[in-house]
Amino acid sequence: MVTTTNSLLAGKPQALELEQILKPGITRASMRGLVYGGPGVIELKDIPIPEILKPTDAVVKILKTTICGTDLGILHGKTPSVLPGTTLGHEGVGVVDEVGSAITKFKKGDHVIISCITSCGTCEYCKKQMYSHCEHGGWILGNTINGTQAEYARIPHADNSLYAIPAGADEEALVMLSDILPTGHEIGVINGCVKPGDTIAIVGAGPVGMSALLTAQFYSPAKIYMIDVDQNRLDLARKFGATHTINSSEEDAVRRIIFETKDGVDVAIEAVGIPDTFDICQNIVRPGGHLANIGVHGKPINLQIQNLWIRNITITMGLVNTNTTPMLLKTVESGKLQPAQLITHRFKLEDILDAYKVFGNASKENAMKVIIAP
Ligand SMILES: [Zn+2]
Ligand SMILES: [Zn+2]
Repeated sequence: MVTTTNSLLAGKPQALELEQILKPGITRASMRGLVYGGPGVIELKDIPIPEILKPTDAVVKILKTTICGTDLGILHGKTPSVLPGTTLGHEGVGVVDEVGSAITKFKKGDHVIISCITSCGTCEYCKKQMYSHCEHGGWILGNTINGTQAEYARIPHADNSLYAIPAGADEEALVMLSDILPTGHEIGVINGCVKPGDTIAIVGAGPVGMSALLTAQFYSPAKIYMIDVDQNRLDLARKFGATHTINSSEEDAVRRIIFETKDGVDVAIEAVGIPDTFDICQNIVRPGGHLANIGVHGKPINLQIQNLWIRNITITMGLVNTNTTPMLLKTVESGKLQPAQLITHRFKLEDILDAYKVFGNASKENAMKVIIAP
């Protein structure tokens, strides 16, 4: 019985009454989604299916999503911008279910990659292709708005924040284009100015470090050192193109690199985000070289500026812009880049808590990227 309590609705048709009572905020249809409940707490729940809120929105039915190291950071309470009640996830591919009236590039039924970065395409930052700092977007999915670890997600500024999937593409592999491949490429390889013949070192053989390893090879560096404490990941890095690997739990990475290269590497890419790994990087860059920091640091590092200044070192850092995603998509289409090799585990959305356990114990589980499908 829903008709008698609200006098405003008296005399109107019953369907409309139901519609008005249920709005705003609660819809009749619900879906499953992974909801953040505060540090250490996540829950798979029934939540409302998102709706178009602005003409520039699209609602995408998620076909595949994944878990990012950033999601683990949120779970560990490192990201206070994520409020309890938020659906997590900022990566995925899906099919457009509904579009707002201002959407021109996509229609219902189109298969799309969801960019981890939402961008309006018209603000001052977007005009500079600094989508990460879009005045109306940036990293908001699974952060300040509900994300992709659910059956549906609302994507603001969809015309500029979704990428059409070419017919016949391996959609599962394209999940890697939402975040990790553009991150490794833009913040590691491009910021680090990797050039033909360079000797480079990547510290951290997780998904983003591996993405830097794969995309660095576009630029033909002569030697690629991969440094990690996990031998399984180092073995995988060899398969992905690393010419040298160093297990830094067994040997002194700085000493070996200085010994083998005489004066260090042209580019050191930091892909972990802790003081120790940054420290390795700042001790192995040769004069004139680049230190490209990708890692998400939760505390200060001890910058050895007194040694670095005289060696003409360039240090860069940043949040991915995803402006190279269209280019990366072409390299995947042509087979030059093969991101499917990063996928190690697959789960149903109903089992996403198991997926978090596996990804959270990546070393023990030999996990790289996990795929989650409804
Ligand atoms: Zn991510
Ligand atoms: Zn913008």
